[in-house]
Order: sequence, then structure tokens, then C-alpha cells
Amino acid sequence: TSSSQPVPAAKESVPDDSLRPSKLADMIGQRAVIERLDILVDAARKQAECLPHILFDGPPGLGKTTLATVLPKEMGVELTLASGASLSSPKEIMPYLTNLTDHGVLFIDEIHRLPKSVEEFLYTAMEDFRIDIVLGEGLGARTLSMPLKRFSLIGATTRSGMLSAPLRDRFQVREHLDFYELDELARIVSINARKLGVPIDETSTSELARRSRGTPRIANSLLFWVRNFAISRGDGTITLSITRQALEMQQVDIAGLDKQDRRYLETLVSVFGGGPRGIDAIAATMNIPSETLSEEVEPFLLREGFIIRTPQGRRATSKAIDHLGRSGPASPPG
Ligand code: ADP
Repeated sequence: TSSSQPVPAAKESVPDDSLRPSKLADMIGQRAVIERLDILVDAARKQAECLPHILFDGPPGLGKTTLATVLPKEMGVELTLASGASLSSPKEIMPYLTNLTDHGVLFIDEIHRLPKSVEEFLYTAMEDFRIDIVLGEGLGARTLSMPLKRFSLIGATTRSGMLSAPLRDRFQVREHLDFYELDELARIVSINARKLGVPIDETSTSELARRSRGTPRIANSLLFWVRNFAISRGDGTITLSITRQALEMQQVDIAGLDKQDRRYLETLVSVFGGGPRGIDAIAATMNIPSETLSEEVEPFLLREGFIIRTPQGRRATSKAIDHLGRSGPASPPG
């Protein structure tokens, strides 16, 4: 495996917006979640009210941002986007709140990254549509109360466990997004291939679905890559052989695991004898932040049964050892 190959289907490399559904009805999968949201939208519209505050959690690429952009469209209200990582003080979040239009939606991505001071500032905003600003210091300090427009806060997080309880409790609605089923991913691939005007057959569609790690964003980025491969190496048609060659070049294996997934399993199996081993030790050995492992790598490996969690740490299953034996250079321990 040479290192001059293109970077693995990068999460950022896809023009996400062009393929994003713009209506709830166009969203594939997550049926129960979508049905509940549909009722909330309908009720809010019938009562001329704003949406409740909604928190979405789940691994990256499953549709949290998409839902946050679709809901205001359904409501016919304005959307303002912010990111928890860049709101480092109450001063920075204030303009977002004061500039909201009536019934508008404020979306805060990575809301678990908000510092405590900003979280606390949000409490009255969410509860009473009001912010309290302290002017001056010491004895001369006074509090100025400022009314806000009625608005809805939509938060997205990959780690709802990291949200403080008081903030979490102020979301009237909390929805968890889970990995997608193969037929749902296949539908996403096929709809998006049509949008892109790329011919693709059914076997290639299911092959892409199988290799997408249960994640629509990955399905889209693989589709882009395979399309480019088909244009460059073929006549632009996506066939099964083109699909397999293109995916091999991206080092996505038959189970949909990428390089990082396999490195994780190889580390657990070859360095730690299959475990059990704590996540911090695995992360340190891989030289990767342990949050990346727990938020992006492990959820899929757990769901597919490649690893299990025990009180003593993570353990590789026999499925993982078989898989490495078949696909990887690492030799499983005897
Ligand atoms: P997140 O915010 O959870 O990281 P996004 O909302 O950015 O994920 O989703 C990534 C991409 O996946 C979107 O641009 C969209 O094209 C696609 N996608 C996500 N969910 C769906 C869905 N339910 N149906 C169709 N496409 C989806």
C-alpha cells in the first residue's frame, strides 16, 4: 500500500449541500424520527407557534445538519447556523440571539463544545426568550434584561453524554440518529446518482451501500469518487468492476471498514492481544485523540460486532480477527 494514493473518502470532500434533501418527505430512513418531527412541524404551523428546542445526537454524517436545515424550510422560517467550537464567550453568541427573526431557528452544531459560560447564558434564552446582561462590576453592577424573539434552538452533537444536564433538559425534544440500513443507503445512492446524472446499475448501487459504513455522508462521498473513477478510467458508467477498483484504491474493504477502522482493529488485536484494553491506551498507541475513536470509529465497529465493550475495556471479537486475517496485512495472534 503506497502513501501516494488519494486521501480516503474525506468527509469534507463532498459538496454536501448539493445532495442534501430539502424536505422531510425526501429524507430516507430514520422513519420513526421523521414521523415525530413531521408531527411537531404540523402542530407548530397549526398553532402559529415556533418549533420546540430540539437536540439531535448520533455519529457524524447521519443527517443531523440536514434535519436542522430541512425543519426551518418546512416551517417557512429563517435559519441561522453556528458552531459550538467557535462560540467561546457569551459575547460571541449574543448577536446570534439578538438577530433572530420571529420563530426563527438557531442551529448550533457540536453543541457539546460550548463553554459553561455560554451554556448558562442560553438557559434563560431557551426558557423565557430573554437574556440577562450584567453591566459594570462590583457594587455598581446591574443586570439588564433583554427580550428575544421567540425562537427554536436546534443542537447537534456526537456526544450527548458530554452535554450538561441543565442544558440537555432544556431541549423539549431529543432525537437519536442511528446508522442506516443497507436498503436505505442503496436508495440514497440511487437517488443521488440520478441527481448527478451518472448511470449506475443495481449491483453497483448495493455494493456502494454495503461499503458506506451505515452512513449517508460516506455513501455520497464514495459515489463521487466512483463517478470520477468511472469518468477517468471508463466511459462514465458505474459498473461493478469499476466500483470495486475505485473502492480498493480508497482502501475501503468489503465490510465497509476504512483505513482507520482497520488500524484500530489491528492495534487491538496485534498490540493488545485482542484486549480487553481501555480506549485511552488504544488511542495513545494509534496517536489519535480518544474522542475520535469513541465518536467516529467505535460506534460502527460496535454495531457491526467487530468489538465489544467490557468493564475492563474494548475486546476484539472473532469476527474482527477473521476479518483482519482475510483483508489485512496484520497477522492475528495465535
Ligand atoms: P451530520 O450533521 O449528522 O454530520 P449531515 O446532515 O451533514 O450529517 O449529512 C451528511 C450528508 O448525508 C448530507 O449532505 C446528505 O446529503 C446526506 N444525508 C443525511 N441524511 C440523509 C437522509 N436521511 N436521506 C438522504 N440523504 C441524507
